[in-house]
Amino acid sequence: MRSFLRKIYNKFKHVNVIMAHHVCDDEPIIPSCIISKEGFREYVSGKKFVSIDTALRSISKNNKSYILTVDDALDDLYTEIYPVCKANGIPFTAFISVDLIDKEGYITTEQLVEMAGDPLVTIGSHGCTHIKLNECDDDQARYEIMESKSKLEKTIGKEVLAYAYSNGVASKRDIKLVKKAGYRYGFGVIPRKCNVISLMFDRFLLPRYNLDNNTVQKI
Ligand SMILES: [Zn+2]
Repeated sequence: MRSFLRKIYNKFKHVNVIMAHHVCDDEPIIPSCIISKEGFREYVSGKKFVSIDTALRSISKNNKSYILTVDDALDDLYTEIYPVCKANGIPFTAFISVDLIDKEGYITTEQLVEMAGDPLVTIGSHGCTHIKLNECDDDQARYEIMESKSKLEKTIGKEVLAYAYSNGVASKRDIKLVKKAGYRYGFGVIPRKCNVISLMFDRFLLPRYNLDNNTVQKI
């Protein structure tokens, strides 16, 4: 984005969408995207977190608040992130790759159902297998986007309205499929404020800031 356009863009009221993965102090499955337990606790304390729907339906009322999203359904979502959020009343959205549930290192179906029943937690889809959509033919892209929604909804008994693209990769075809499937929002990994302009033009590829040990001071 050109600098003068960025200046205009930054003048709008906004929310910051945060994307976390691993919260742990030791060796995780995915070696990048890690924040320490203490780093995570410190980061979330004192910030105003709002659920996706509340924040995006009325950005002006929730100006400068935060949306916490957690990708991949890794087991520390349940053992580390959920307890901290629950203790502090922090709403968050967990983006689940549904075929990875119950695999080693990931949350279980039971844990997913328990979290989905908590009003603090919104469940979103992160595809079925976590494959990047640019590696998928049309049938597989449809499977990732459409089937993940129906499998998750069947498991949790609630509508799934947000989709996060694996590695933030989304083509026009994928965005079209996300709309067609009936999602209300799609999320990528472009690190930018989320405002009315984003909602108008990028509702199906909304920006997010990655939260890890390297970025925690900056976002
Ligand atoms: Zn992911």
